[in-house]
Amino acid sequence: LVVKAEQLQNEHVRLEPSQLHYLQRVLRLGVGDRFIAMDGEGHAWLATLKPLTDSLAQATSMQATILEPITAPTELAVRVTLVAALPKGNGFDEVVRQSTELGVDQLLPVISDRTLLNPSPQKLDRWQRIANEAAEQSERLCVPHITAPISFTAHLQQTCSQTDSRLQKYLCVARGSTPHLLNCLQASMSDASLPQVMIAIGPEGGWTDAEVAAAIDAGYQPVSLGSRILRAVTAPLVALSLIAAVWES
Ligand code: SAM
Repeated sequence: LVVKAEQLQNEHVRLEPSQLHYLQRVLRLGVGDRFIAMDGEGHAWLATLKPLTDSLAQATSMQATILEPITAPTELAVRVTLVAALPKGNGFDEVVRQSTELGVDQLLPVISDRTLLNPSPQKLDRWQRIANEAAEQSERLCVPHITAPISFTAHLQQTCSQTDSRLQKYLCVARGSTPHLLNCLQASMSDASLPQVMIAIGPEGGWTDAEVAAAIDAGYQPVSLGSRILRAVTAPLVALSLIAAVWES
């Protein structure tokens, strides 16, 4: 369960009504049952449900008590940012859920030349909620951060100014003779310092030639995910599975 810092008071977790509903009605937990509370910033605790002793509270209310911190390594040994051109419909929901399960650190939805969607501002809240739920279900210590959508061009301008030499940027291109992502990742493992990986996936219609050229100028390396064309929502899953397989902590 993702909780905010202000909900943690000494060894207690002040649960909100929606969180209590989730624990009691959805997960069917009762007094004494255990669950994992996490702040989404890398800290998690084993907690248990207890009846609320507050005299003003209703008899049926519960609160949670922290039993012990959890230090299990559920995060990847490399920080991964997924840059994804927004797929049509609710396709990005699927991308958020699956990439969170696979250990992504940050999601940057971008609007490319061939993006068909113009998302409403409410979408960001929805995506962050999906990321919270997926992080809970995967028992991750960190919840990925999702940024507001920007144009791919603006993203390239921003990333040009990132000078960290450990940052490796890969642009997935569905056609052409580019090295396979797996070979690039394995080659990078000889580097003693752990890299940060940025991986970019195009929309249904793919990247334009101008976008590929601009991305290369911004330090991206074009890579392949194999000889079959994957859907825009499948490609992130494959890319992140390869990264997780190579960099699992
Ligand atoms: N119609 C596009 C084309 O012919 O190039 C295919 C776009 S594909 C449905 C959507 C995105 O997924 C691509 O822009 C690319 O980023 C990624 N992708 C799909 N299959 C891929 C592959 N085999 N290798 C690398 N990237 C791939």
